Formats: sequence, structure tokens, C-alpha cells
Amino acid sequence: PTPADPAFVEITVNSPEQMQQLGRRLAKLLRAGDLVMLNGELGAGKTTLTRGLGEGLGVRGAVTSPTFVIARVHPSLGDGPPLVHVDAYRLSGGLEEMEDLDLDVSLPESVVVVEWGEGKVEELSDDRLQVVIHRTVGTAPAFDAPGAGEAGADGVRQVTVTGIGDRWAAVDLGVLTA
Ligand code: ADP
Ligand code: MG
Repeated sequence: PTPADPAFVEITVNSPEQMQQLGRRLAKLLRAGDLVMLNGELGAGKTTLTRGLGEGLGVRGAVTSPTFVIARVHPSLGDGPPLVHVDAYRLSGGLEEMEDLDLDVSLPESVVVVEWGEGKVEELSDDRLQVVIHRTVGTAPAFDAPGAGEAGADGVRQVTVTGIGDRWAAVDLGVLTA
């Protein structure tokens, strides 16, 4: 791609474990100030990806679906940035509805991951990673694939990662497919 093209990569993910692994890989590319937007239907794997991302960043506390809270801050166990994990599912408005979260204040020193943030948090940053997880239909894993046969364990996901803004122009997202 030319520098004008957005950085883009498409990845096939065959299991929740692979989704977490993708999150760990993604974490290696991230630094304080980065905004990651995760989109995809309920159960697509956004939180699963964030769990791996939290592992990769080395933050405290298990990443879970924030059912009653909108955001959770996971401080770093080392000297890395904290992970701010937001689930904007229940919010219909934009950033003004999340004012209390002070995302604009925490973003410069954190990695901010927002589930369901499309159309809501873009104005936080001109630079962002947009991750879209698609549940693919009719592509059950091979009988001998890891996890095959485990009740409810499997599903194939198609993940696209697009880097938007100068921050991502020179970053090789290809490392995510390794
Ligand atoms: P979301 O946050 O998008 O609503 P979750 O990560 O909370 O989704 O849940 C995803 C569910 O789908 C989990 O129960 C997980 O075990 C299951 N799953 C099956 N296959 C995959 C996969 N390839 N990637 C991620 N999750 C998967
Ligand atoms: Mg979720």
C-alpha cells in the first residue's frame, strides 16, 4: 500500500484462544495515547480480544464484559500504560454521554479500547485502530481443529483491522497475521 492508503489487514480467527492471541499480538503494537475501536455484533469476540490485549499489555485484573459498568481501568503491572476498557453498548449518544469517564483526559497516558464505539467516540482522536469482527456463517472448524467438538467452543471469525491517521501510516499491521 502507498502511504496514502489506510493500513489494513484481514485475519481469520478460528477459536476464542486465537482471538486472545490476536489481542496479545495487537498489544505489542500499542502505546499510550492509542485508541482502539472494536465493532461487531454481540458475541462476536470483542471482549475476548480485549482480554488478550490486557494480557499482552500486562495489566492487572481479568478483562470481563462490563455488565454494570461502562468502563474499567486496568493499571499496568509493570511500567506500561493502563488499559481503559469501555463498553458503549448501552449508550446511544456520543462522547457527551460518557463525559464522566474523562476519556479525553486518560487517553494520552492510556490505551483506550472501546467496544461498540462506532459513531460515538471517533472525535476522541484522529488516529485510531478500527477492528471489526465478523461472525462467518457455514465455516465450521475442521474436525481435527483445536477445540473442535467442545460444546459451544468454536466459531470462525473474520477480523479486519484498519489503521486510521498518521500514527498508523507506517505501522506494519501484517505482524498481526503471523
Ligand atoms: P462480545 O464482546 O463481542 O460481545 P465476547 O468476547 O464477550 O463477545 O464473547 C464471544 C463468545 O463467542 C465467547 O463465548 C467465545 O467463547 C465465543 N467464541 C467462539 N468462537 C470465537 C472466536 N473465534 N473468537 C472469539 N470468540 C469466540
Ligand atoms: Mg463485549
